Amino acid sequence: CGIIGIVGTQPVEARLIESLKRLEYRGYDSAGVAGVVDGRIERRRAAGKIRALEEVLAGEPLAATVGIGHTRWATHGAPSVRNAHPHTQGRVTLVHNGIIENFLELRERLEAAGRTFESDTDTEVIAALLDSELGMGKPPVEALKATLDQLAGAYALAVLIAGEDAMILGARRGSPLVVGHGQGEMFLGSDALAVGPFTQRVCYLEEGDFVALSHGAAAIYDADGRPVERAVRTVPASA
Ligand code: GLU
Repeated sequence: CGIIGIVGTQPVEARLIESLKRLEYRGYDSAGVAGVVDGRIERRRAAGKIRALEEVLAGEPLAATVGIGHTRWATHGAPSVRNAHPHTQGRVTLVHNGIIENFLELRERLEAAGRTFESDTDTEVIAALLDSELGMGKPPVEALKATLDQLAGAYALAVLIAGEDAMILGARRGSPLVVGHGQGEMFLGSDALAVGPFTQRVCYLEEGDFVALSHGAAAIYDADGRPVERAVRTVPASA
């Protein structure tokens, strides 16, 4: 439902929460965050309000400068901690807005190949597919393209990959996604409101675009995988 991603130089925990609170107006049933902690990806998730996620984080802080966050509005699988995003498969941890229409067929194929799943979501198959593509030795952007090509339905994604400590991948089709340009930090949000507290310089991805964010840059590709430039505009500070 709501997405935030930060490739930061400063801690992100409080900022992920601030952004998720701004996205509360969209409605949600659970929330979660993930970040790179000492080279490993850690997750914190909670059913119910963001307050519940804050309580989890109070007990187990997320000491990360690169991270993603999500508010979920369940479409596949009951609202629960187990089905809350981020979802992890192997090296991949991601959050997703939207619905993957062919998830059952993809899941059955992956299960036949030996994959096990820990949630009932359509989202987890995206993580499993991407992890499989990475496992074939493809670099992250190529593996993402190969994954997106297999998906039917709608998505906005923010993705962390273990071993790629200063990178967030994003993609959109049927759900909006915005790139925010900060000072040596880059942001990804499901709308300009999500990145509003951090930057007013935003770039709206176009249908089918995917992106690799690093600390200082956003490498954007169109649906065919061609590198493209998308205009960066300045939105009002209230956005
Ligand atoms: N279809 C996904 C799920 O049920 C994502 C829902 C959303 O957009 O929040 O987990």
